Amino acid sequence: MSLIYLTSVGRIEEGLLEILESQLADVFGLRVGCLKPLPEPSYAFDPKRRQYSSVAVMHELMRVCPASGARLLGITEKDLFIPVLSFVFGQAQLNGSLSVVSLARLHQEFYQFAPDQPLLQERALKEAMHELGHTFGLVHCPEKACPMSLATNIHQLDLKKTDWCVSCEILLQEAISR
Ligand SMILES: [Zn+2]
Ligand SMILES: [Zn+2]
Repeated sequence: MSLIYLTSVGRIEEGLLEILESQLADVFGLRVGCLKPLPEPSYAFDPKRRQYSSVAVMHELMRVCPASGARLLGITEKDLFIPVLSFVFGQAQLNGSLSVVSLARLHQEFYQFAPDQPLLQERALKEAMHELGHTFGLVHCPEKACPMSLATNIHQLDLKKTDWCVSCEILLQEAISR
């Protein structure tokens, strides 16, 4: 049985989901599977902000989330927001099932740099670890290099490593074995 499921929400960067599937299986030590792609999230579009409501996407994920106990991570190219913030890299239910990651601001092109595929993949992995970590009950970590630290800009995300810090690793293993 897969315990973590991934799905794309609208068209996303080719091949990225498959890479994340194997990398996330490694870092969580869990089976990871992919669900069938979801359509473009036009239902979540806010014409005033020209961004997509993270909450609306989470509602859609709830509709397709498999059995209880499983985690579902949606990946979208759309720029996500919640009302109080100008954007979010992602969102998750603490100790819940659902999480979402936006690739919009993980592309170097967003910052007027040349495309960098390996960097995009690394950023997507860190952000996926962070949001899925919340679903396993992990909260924000003071260790800047830990994927569970809070990143509100791309520089903070780039300071992170793709390994859990010692204390988050322990908390994660406890949560998984529960
Ligand atoms: Zn967070
Ligand atoms: Zn940590």
